[in-house]
Amino acid sequence: MTVTNHHPTDELLALYSAGSLPLSQALCVSTHLEYCDACGHKLRYLDRIGSTLMQKLKPSPASAELKVRTLEQLDSLPEKQVETTSEVNSSLPRCLRQFINCSCDNLGWKRVSADISRVELWRDNNGAKVELLKIRPGGAAATHTHQGDEYTVVLEGSFSDEKGLYQRGDFLLRDQNDRHTPVATRDCECICLAVTEGPVQLTGFFSRILNPLIRRAYAV
Ligand SMILES: [Zn+2]
Repeated sequence: MTVTNHHPTDELLALYSAGSLPLSQALCVSTHLEYCDACGHKLRYLDRIGSTLMQKLKPSPASAELKVRTLEQLDSLPEKQVETTSEVNSSLPRCLRQFINCSCDNLGWKRVSADISRVELWRDNNGAKVELLKIRPGGAAATHTHQGDEYTVVLEGSFSDEKGLYQRGDFLLRDQNDRHTPVATRDCECICLAVTEGPVQLTGFFSRILNPLIRRAYAV
């Protein structure tokens, strides 16, 4: 098990346990859980609390219509997919393999700057973008803030910003008050899972020119 130093808050884990998180956020928590025993232990504790509370609830009768709708939804569930076990992505967390069926090198990365490439995996119902970001060794992202929350889990390599160093499995949540400049360490490239709930807002010299372009790209 990887040693991780940055974790989801207890509140976020409780929402995950209750099944109340949007899927994109839940994907980030699931990814972190594959690296982190400590959060796995907390989650099992929260699950036990949730199940005890559920048992204390008074059951109420379900309408005939609800029963029919539930059975229809069960019938329409897709067949369980056989888990991909090919060597090319076996180093990735299991919960991400459904989005990635080839080697990370063949994912169709789009270069967004000299140091950063990205590939969009999926768009959540709430509009959040689920992406992989790749920073070359020693490379830096432009200094930015966010128009929504940004969730990041480090999958390979490591990077640092004004608040610390983040390594494999670490979980970060940045909100619109955070202004930061991620920089990959020089030993290897850094690959992260990133969920952004709104376009980033650059704060550097060219921001007045680039920000409208970023907002337009986010809306696509
Ligand atoms: Zn953790």
